[in-house]
Amino acid sequence: MALSKDRGITMNDGNKIPILGFGTYSPDAVQKSKCEEATKIAIEVGFRHIDGAYVYETEEQVGRAIRAKISDGTVKREDIFYTGKLWSTFHRPELVRKCLEESLKKLQFDYMDLFIIHNPYSMKAMEACKDAGLVRSIGVSNFTRKQLEMILNKPGLKYKPAINQVECHPYRNQSKLLAFCKSNNIVLEGYSVLGSQRDPRWIDTNTPVLLEDPLLVAIAKKYNKSPALVAIRYQLQRGLVVLVKTYTRKRIEENAQAFTFQLSEEDMKSIDGLHKHELHKSGNIFWSPTVLPTR
Ligand code: NDP
Repeated sequence: MALSKDRGITMNDGNKIPILGFGTYSPDAVQKSKCEEATKIAIEVGFRHIDGAYVYETEEQVGRAIRAKISDGTVKREDIFYTGKLWSTFHRPELVRKCLEESLKKLQFDYMDLFIIHNPYSMKAMEACKDAGLVRSIGVSNFTRKQLEMILNKPGLKYKPAINQVECHPYRNQSKLLAFCKSNNIVLEGYSVLGSQRDPRWIDTNTPVLLEDPLLVAIAKKYNKSPALVAIRYQLQRGLVVLVKTYTRKRIEENAQAFTFQLSEEDMKSIDGLHKHELHKSGNIFWSPTVLPTR
């Protein structure tokens, strides 16, 4: 499958989202200035899709990085696709726009490209933000098929969610949700495709380390690539929009190379086989909603 760095997927509202995005969640132990530096590097090496959120508390740094790259002529605002997220303490309809406006103020942007509900909730006040022109597309995150169906079947629904951003990697490959989203013209976007940052505040650190998986390591060797690139490429070939996070220049450059090779159908099938039915029964493998911070 010929995939290119510049490729975007057209969402159900007609807007286009670049298929490879740069993640900006930083654990508390990491200096926020690192996020600013890394976001600039990501734009320099060609990332045009930046994934942020109110709760990451890095929007000021991300906004500064993007504006610096606009000022030095590397990009224009319209070249960048920025995603923000409605945090769970803003779910009351009258607070939804407040959360968006606070994020826009930190970013110093007039609009966001995509605004998604971080955790399952309703859509009405999100539709109003789109109508007000503060956001181009709206979507959801961490929605199951059942929760998506509830939204899609809602009488008076004005805009379908354009995207559903969920945990997705070989250990939790979301194949049923992917098929459902494809059949309903909703883009599935994967986070933690490299196995997450293993931040003990959010995840169970006893879970297996994805990038050390023997099969991934063996396939990577065969293509002379890293297990991380194989994990990214796997999702791109399945038709997902993919988020990856690293604040290391070498890795940012490496991750942008996901368009330089192609996994065979046989290898794609073998990676499908890594899905851990037992582990994901209770939901996400890496991210536990029971430890969500309240800020
Ligand atoms: P990833 O799974 O993308 O990355 C995990 C770790 O992999 C990083 O800490 C990074 O370490 C390391 N890494 C990156 N590139 C390479 C490489 N080439 N080789 C080896 N290791 C590598 O992390 P996230 O869980 O943060 O997911 C990505 C983004 O998705 C987030 O930053 C956020 O924007 C979004 N997200 C959304 C959620 C939601 O609820 N909607 C939940 C979780 C994430 P290092 O930095 O040290 O290089």
